[in-house]
Amino acid sequence: MPIVKEMTPFEAVTYEFDRACDRLKVSDEVRDIVRTPDREVRVEVPVRMDNGKIKVFIGYRVQHNSSRGPYKGGIRYHPEADVDEVKALAALMTYKTAVVGIPFGGAKGGVQCDPSTMSARELQKLTQGFTRAISYIIGPDRDIPAPDMGTNAQTMAWMMSEYAKAHGYSPGVVTGKPVELGGSLGREQATGRGVAIITAELAKDMGKPLRGATVAIQGFGNVGSWAAKFLYPMGAKIVAVTDVKGGVLNENGLDIDALSKHVSQTGSVAGFADADHIGNKELLELPCDILVPAALGGVINRGNAANVRAKIIVEAANHPVTPAADAILKDRGVLCVPDLLVNAGGVTVSYFEWAQNVQRFPWDLGRVNSELEEVLLKAYKNVYVRAKLDRVSYREAAFNIAVERVVRAIELQGLP
Ligand code: NAD
Repeated sequence: MPIVKEMTPFEAVTYEFDRACDRLKVSDEVRDIVRTPDREVRVEVPVRMDNGKIKVFIGYRVQHNSSRGPYKGGIRYHPEADVDEVKALAALMTYKTAVVGIPFGGAKGGVQCDPSTMSARELQKLTQGFTRAISYIIGPDRDIPAPDMGTNAQTMAWMMSEYAKAHGYSPGVVTGKPVELGGSLGREQATGRGVAIITAELAKDMGKPLRGATVAIQGFGNVGSWAAKFLYPMGAKIVAVTDVKGGVLNENGLDIDALSKHVSQTGSVAGFADADHIGNKELLELPCDILVPAALGGVINRGNAANVRAKIIVEAANHPVTPAADAILKDRGVLCVPDLLVNAGGVTVSYFEWAQNVQRFPWDLGRVNSELEEVLLKAYKNVYVRAKLDRVSYREAAFNIAVERVVRAIELQGLP
């Protein structure tokens, strides 16, 4: 087993990128161009809180690469959002948009805050201030934010409205908006739907039915809850779900419709009747067929990879598995299906939303879902075939495809 040290999130993405460059024999000069983010912006956002006092928040927008199109990536509101993580997520977006072949580059934003403790007014003021602070670098043809952890369609509505004050009506400046404001039908469900599409296709290829397969999901927010809601009717037995407040386990399978109702009433999966309690640590180490991390990055790491007892990890979150853990899991025969592919449904429908905004022509839900499925299945097939051809893991195959496309776009435009 290769010795791989534990890395920061940006080091980890760079490590995967460098290894792809080694395999593809990319020159050192071009590597440097791609590896280094194009722009990193740090802003302060003072907000008058409900208690009358001013609090200063720190936000970031990192634009990693735009060789294949405008920068694209979510905005995260989280107490631990820091520049290293935002850089990592921005780089992942560059490779993700390339893997699924949509004409965007990669970016990400983050604000250090705890949205669960803030009122709607405070969140609105924070979002307006952050939008003003980055408004000169975003735009429908420059950089297009979207929701991520801690943000949602409402956040995007506030961003769009604040941007419009200086730049005029520009719905294409953000995606993941409410449908009433130009958002796409199907965007909210898209990442979870994509997780289910890829999982079902994988099961088919492996000759293992999804019906009856046991699944554990960490995170029951946008991605985790929709992944559960799509996997459940496909016959998957979802045995455990956790969120930041707790977790639930039922070895006979949780009733996801009833669990969703419980979450909308109480704000957490914790306390759901007809289930035992399970913690996050135990969930990651639960014996099951498929583990779906759908919350934070780095949750499967050197410390717990040897204890993971799932056969397959479907990476719905961004970089949930560190390179050190990846090496341990590979050695133990645990299959990892990479984030670049698994959670690309969100950015794919974001692309459809942007296209609808630019054309001022909304699509119906049937078109959104069928085109999403087409894009994801094509990307899945490319990764699957490339893994066999190059004799590499799915993660390495996804990086090979992505890096090849980004490097080609840079070279075609001419090196400095
Ligand atoms: P969200 O804020 O809607 O939900 C996050 C969930 O994770 C919540 O259930 C929360 O309780 C849980 N959580 C937070 N901290 C936790 C902890 N310490 N332990 C266990 N659970 C915890 O976020 P989301 O949009 O669902 O994003 C989840 C992941 O998916 C992130 O890694 C994000 O980058 C990635 N992702 C999201 C999208 C999207 O379209 N929203 C697209 C691609 C990737």
